Amino acid sequence: MKTIDSYNFNNKKALVRVDFNVPMDINFSITDDTRIRSALPTINKIIADGGAVIIMSHLGRPKDATEEKYSLRHIVKHLSKLLNRPVLFADDCISKEAKSIAKELKAGEILLLENLRFYKQETAGTLSFASDLASMGDVYVNDAFGTAHRAHASTTIIANYFPNDKVFGYLMANEVANINKVLNNAEKPFTAILGGAKVSGKILVIDKLLDKIDNLIIGGGMAYTFIKAQGGKVGNSLVEDDKLNVALKILIDAKAKGVNVYIPVDTVAAASFSNEAEQQTVDISCIPNGFLGLDIGTASEKIFEEIIHNSKTILWNGPMGVFEMSSYEHGTKAIATAIVKATKKGAYSLIGGGDSVAAINKFRLVKEVSYLSTGGGALLEYIENGNLPGVKAIEG
Ligand code: AMP
Repeated sequence: MKTIDSYNFNNKKALVRVDFNVPMDINFSITDDTRIRSALPTINKIIADGGAVIIMSHLGRPKDATEEKYSLRHIVKHLSKLLNRPVLFADDCISKEAKSIAKELKAGEILLLENLRFYKQETAGTLSFASDLASMGDVYVNDAFGTAHRAHASTTIIANYFPNDKVFGYLMANEVANINKVLNNAEKPFTAILGGAKVSGKILVIDKLLDKIDNLIIGGGMAYTFIKAQGGKVGNSLVEDDKLNVALKILIDAKAKGVNVYIPVDTVAAASFSNEAEQQTVDISCIPNGFLGLDIGTASEKIFEEIIHNSKTILWNGPMGVFEMSSYEHGTKAIATAIVKATKKGAYSLIGGGDSVAAINKFRLVKEVSYLSTGGGALLEYIENGNLPGVKAIEG
């Protein structure tokens, strides 16, 4: 497999799939351009080699091309500023006009194609659509880790048209290397911290992780399903009643595999789902009727912190509580701070999933952890399956 560093893009037109699915305000100003910045090293390398770049991306989930608010036109100016060179735009990704601009593209020039998802053939993975896109370039570069778990036309199918000319971009290569490091070469003790709303989306991940980790810390909304499964009283907390047996099975499997599981012992219980609601910190197994647990308590924080401080590899996905509200951010902040401390002592920490990354951003700790993954769903699926369609398409 060729790497982007070993590929010479001189005189080549590179079709680069990126993830420019950035948040914008109502005036179409980009409120967080991290995803665009993440793709710059790849684009700049192609330009520096003497190549031309055709950028493909999706933005949001448009129903069709009539949804102008999802047009990638809104990011042309910003992209051009970041690259310090003009960016051409084709307002239909596979039109005659797009193909003709692509044909005339010279070394050093950049063309951004309109939102791929204006065509339903993109997510359907339609061969003819992938072939239309492929016809515009000489080499395919995938730098969109966030969508690598989807077998879409531009993330997977298109690679078939470039059997000898397909490479990962820098971001994608970095993501894959970092996850593989955690999954295959983790220094022990290895602790996984899982939180977020529900158990249901994380069952397969936990299953896979149990063969690799020493400690499993469970927080967030999913903790209450584990507590109820063991006979605790969880009041109005988020619970998946159809997953009580699954939770018990996870605990049994973990024990059989020698994995220590840490579930919160106390919780910040609130009278309603609101920042200003009446709150009390209580034993997590005795939440009063009418109250719901919205964060882990300080006793749980202490237990979790100690495990984290003594870990050499840490994987974190999902907040410990409803960290978006200041009353319930304490637990998530404590865990983030403990991960930072462990990292300073030499542990390797990988944080993934939109909400954990948002939390790390909120607490301004981005530079203090080993690696922040840009993929939420993609990261979880990589752990579950040991690969992703978009990764396999390049490697295969
Ligand atoms: P996920 O997408 O599954 O990672 O879930 C992330 C969401 O879980 C965040 O928006 C949190 O606000 C939410 N969350 C965390 N803890 C709780 C809780 N105790 N009750 C309800 N929602 C929670």
